[in-house]
Amino acid sequence: AKAAGKGRYHFYQSHLSDSLVLRINREQALRLAIERDEFVLHYQPRVDTATGRLSSMEALVRWMHPERGLVPPLEFIPIAEDTGLILTLGRLVIEKSCAQLAQWKAQGLPVVPVSINVSALQFNEGNVREILAACMDEHGIDPSLIGVELTESCMAGDDEKVSGELDGLRSLGVKLLVDDFGTGYSSLSQLQRLNVDVLKVDRAFTVTLDHGEEGKALFKAIVSMADALDICIVAEGVETAEQLSVLQALDCDEVQGHFVSKPVPEGEMAALMLKRFLF
Ligand code: C2E
Ligand code: CA
Ligand code: CA
Ligand code: CA
Repeated sequence: AKAAGKGRYHFYQSHLSDSLVLRINREQALRLAIERDEFVLHYQPRVDTATGRLSSMEALVRWMHPERGLVPPLEFIPIAEDTGLILTLGRLVIEKSCAQLAQWKAQGLPVVPVSINVSALQFNEGNVREILAACMDEHGIDPSLIGVELTESCMAGDDEKVSGELDGLRSLGVKLLVDDFGTGYSSLSQLQRLNVDVLKVDRAFTVTLDHGEEGKALFKAIVSMADALDICIVAEGVETAEQLSVLQALDCDEVQGHFVSKPVPEGEMAALMLKRFLF
């Protein structure tokens, strides 16, 4: 225990575990960063597999830490999810995405849709529909320019409730994307029932395309089913020319990954929009 002013002693450190103290500190730091507006968005292009034409982009949040520099989301999104701060952070991401689109449009750039990541807690409790509607309205954004990326964990649970929520989002006119497909338990038929527009196949599957026929066969099966269900299919994490050429042969609709471009700040994204064809 340590002295804290006039004869008052604080014992709290001794009965809180180190990890709890650490968690509270991280939560405080995150709260402060939100107040200080230290978050920025980077953008990663998605392109047509056959032509390399820019089709859309994904907004990916980064923390501009005054001492640590650019902090990647995996270091703070889980804390934000644990503490509920993801609701505030998620709203910020939606606001920034809409504001950026409006700015690009005002600059006369040939804008493409932006897809926004929405975490499960945010989907279930975050008024995403209302926030999106208000932001699109405020910035004059056409709903066709917005996509919402949901993981399979968002679609778990009560089918009625999930499809109700999804219908609510869709009624705004935004696109619905399933993120990290293949890492959860949703079936393609369930996804069709839920009327999703785009399936983003997890990077773990893309990686297997370099290693023989098995990975290709699996990917091919996903592509042909998605095609039959009229769902657009995107391969995530494409890093090599070899992976790209396999995906071209399989008729996978779109690709995203370092082979095309890493996530970039807004200025570089503007340049990519002007370039239009990225390979
Ligand atoms: P994600 O939604 O699956 O985003 C794709 C991640 O893969 C990004 O990591 C991206 O930089 C990375 N990536 C893209 N292409 C490649 C590649 O070719 N190779 C490899 N190795 N990686 C690639 P990032 O930006 O670090 O984001 C990590 C995760 O953090 C995201 O995964 C997403 O789950 C979460 N996240 C990011 N921004 C947000 C946000 O605004 N809201 C929420 N809820 N989650 C976010
Ligand atoms: Ca995503
Ligand atoms: Ca993903
Ligand atoms: Ca197709």
